Amino acid sequence: MTASSEDIFRVTLLGTGAPPPRLDRFGPSTLIEVGDEKFIVDAGRGAMQRLHQLGIPFGDITGMFLTHHHSDHVVGFPDLWLTGWIGRSWGKRNQPLKVWGPEGTKQMMEHLPQAFGVDIRVRSRNYPPDGVKLVAQEIKEGVILDRDGIKVSAFEVDHGGEELAAFGYRIDYQGHAAVLSGDTTYNENLIRHSQGADLLVHEVTAAAGSAAESPEQLKRIGSNHTTPDQAGTIFSRIRPKLAVYNHLLLFGGATAEDLIPATRKEYSGPLVVGEDLMQIRIGESIETYRLGRS
Ligand SMILES: [Zn+2]
Repeated sequence: MTASSEDIFRVTLLGTGAPPPRLDRFGPSTLIEVGDEKFIVDAGRGAMQRLHQLGIPFGDITGMFLTHHHSDHVVGFPDLWLTGWIGRSWGKRNQPLKVWGPEGTKQMMEHLPQAFGVDIRVRSRNYPPDGVKLVAQEIKEGVILDRDGIKVSAFEVDHGGEELAAFGYRIDYQGHAAVLSGDTTYNENLIRHSQGADLLVHEVTAAAGSAAESPEQLKRIGSNHTTPDQAGTIFSRIRPKLAVYNHLLLFGGATAEDLIPATRKEYSGPLVVGEDLMQIRIGESIETYRLGRS
């Protein structure tokens, strides 16, 4: 028996990295397949390649959400948008693309077509002009999409305070919920908006040994991101069916293997360190698959 699309609620980590240009962890990007929708949250480096590894053409994507405008979360956007417009099996976009995000989203979506104006002019002879149109929607905290039983809510997080608007997202469907933290330090608003969530995908930072960064840099990073100790407290207050680390920002000798023991001081529930192309299916139970890289 095959599951109908109405039963699908699946989160795939397209990229679990941050600014460092690693080959094993591409930039932050997450695919959410829910009912008939296919959303992408953030567009880090390599999102187009990872989507292609899943065999999903960009033409099938029904909307994009940006958590904030740090470049590691958006540098993959022009690739998804323009490569995804080309009329090949991995692209074939023929509809305008709706992009929700914080302040700055309209500016970016208005200026990108100017920056790529030559390509758009020339390729519009061969591909549908609607397929390269961008429709930006700047968001505030609250429900930003509610259709066909799918609800997407944005909530404010703290990623450098007032200076940088940053959001997490919660997706509710058929009595289940997934939360993506976006980039944030320990944040009460995230804890409040994550209550009852089945899945919590949360960012993390860790440093060990002598990091190349100065103490001032590490202090700033610490006030913008979440340590495993802090995450342990967050997870124990939300008690999701599964907590997943992504956006691994590691300094000095810190490794992914260090994250779980440090989290266990406060939290003993289900926890995994995310990897690119890890897939989480949400239903009566939560199942995790590793699709592997090729
Ligand atoms: Zn950031």
